[in-house]
Amino acid sequence: MPCQSSDELKALVIEAKKYTKDGKVADYIPALGKANPKDLSIAIHYPDGPCISAGDIERKITLQSISKVISLALVLMDRGSDYVFDYVGMEPTGDPFNSIAKLETMIPAKPLNPMINAGALVVTHMIKGKSIEERFQRLVSFIRELTNDPTVNYCEEVARSEFETAHLNRALCYFLKQHKIIDEDVEQLLDLYTKQCAIEMNCLDLAKIGVVFAMDGVDPVSRRQIMPPDIARICKTFMVTCGMYNASGEFAIKIGIPAKSGVSGGIMGAVPGRFGIGIFGPALDEKGNSIAGIKLLELLSAKHSLSMF
Ligand code: GLN
Repeated sequence: MPCQSSDELKALVIEAKKYTKDGKVADYIPALGKANPKDLSIAIHYPDGPCISAGDIERKITLQSISKVISLALVLMDRGSDYVFDYVGMEPTGDPFNSIAKLETMIPAKPLNPMINAGALVVTHMIKGKSIEERFQRLVSFIRELTNDPTVNYCEEVARSEFETAHLNRALCYFLKQHKIIDEDVEQLLDLYTKQCAIEMNCLDLAKIGVVFAMDGVDPVSRRQIMPPDIARICKTFMVTCGMYNASGEFAIKIGIPAKSGVSGGIMGAVPGRFGIGIFGPALDEKGNSIAGIKLLELLSAKHSLSMF
């Protein structure tokens, strides 16, 4: 179904766009540095089919950390929650997403949650399959099911750019391997993880994934249960407690919806029982969240009382 351009969303985008000048595009992954900091777009997908939008919603963005919540859902289906949470915790950190500090001070050295890089690397390690290729294809197939878009794939340039510069993530992997939280070849795991982060789609697809989480794992278009309600619930809870990194508390107070952001400037939101949101605004604040995207959600949440609290 085509997405209708919305005057209301356009007005909110114009208002929120003013904040892009206070943000900065991520460039620690060199290929992401090419994004235009002034971009801002949004799509909202309702359960009964219609979609409304503002801005350039055709533009493809890489998922980056948004992929963490999707790989978590897949791994929970693959292995069950008891197994998964033996290797990764359930608590927010208060530290930046790529921090190694807590790994060293916590005993055992298990990452605090699956939304920080250390935890996400453990989750990616748990994706089942006989080879990197098979594991990656299983994740992509799952995402194609969630978006209902068989063309979803990954951006080779972004994956390569991150793979070549992921020194900190390599350090996290070696730490995890030393402490027997993971046991695979670090380069192989990074190959899979950087491809996962480079999976790309537009805001509409992002909103479509959001609506599946919002509707407890049911695809409202095909009416299929894509993931068990309990897994959708676990993922949404992590989105609330850890989805916006170490800004999740403030986000919960000011906006109050489950959401997951990525350093590409994407945000996927799931308003329980109501709709899914996909946002792209690559100018980031100092914590790595889309600065204008958060403003846009703040305006939207205030206007339509979206907070679940
Ligand atoms: N691929 C990125 C990384 O590991 C994802 C981080 C993010 O979006 N916060 O650094």
